[in-house]
Amino acid sequence: MAECGSCGDSIEKGEEFEHLGRTLCEDCYLDALNPPKACDPWAVHTAKSSMAQGQQLTPLQERILMLLKDRGPLTAQEVMSELKISESEFKNNFATLRHMELARGFKEGDKVSYTLFSC
Ligand SMILES: [Zn+2]
Repeated sequence: MAECGSCGDSIEKGEEFEHLGRTLCEDCYLDALNPPKACDPWAVHTAKSSMAQGQQLTPLQERILMLLKDRGPLTAQEVMSELKISESEFKNNFATLRHMELARGFKEGDKVSYTLFSC
C-alpha cells in the first residue's frame, strides 16, 4: 500500500496522487495545488495558525490587521488614534502580529510605518 509523502497516511489503491515526484494522499495533493497566496494575509494566517495549533488573534489584533489591510501603511500614531488604543496596547498587540508574520514595521524616512507582512 502506498504512503503519503507528506502526512504519512496510507493511501488506498487508486487514490494516490503524484505531485512533483512525491506520492500524496488527496488532502495533501489539494493543499499542494493551493498554497496560500502571497498577498492574502487571512490564508497565510490560517496556514500559520494551524501550524501553531490554533493560535488565535484577539479582536484587537484583527482590527489592527484589518486597518493595515484597508489603509496601510500607517504610523503607530495613526493606528492608535484610529483604534483609540494606547501606545503600549499597540506595541503589545503588534508584537504578536509581527511574531506571527502577519504584519511588520519599516522605516520610511525618519518615521516608522506599519504594513501587512506579505504585501
Ligand atoms: Zn497526506
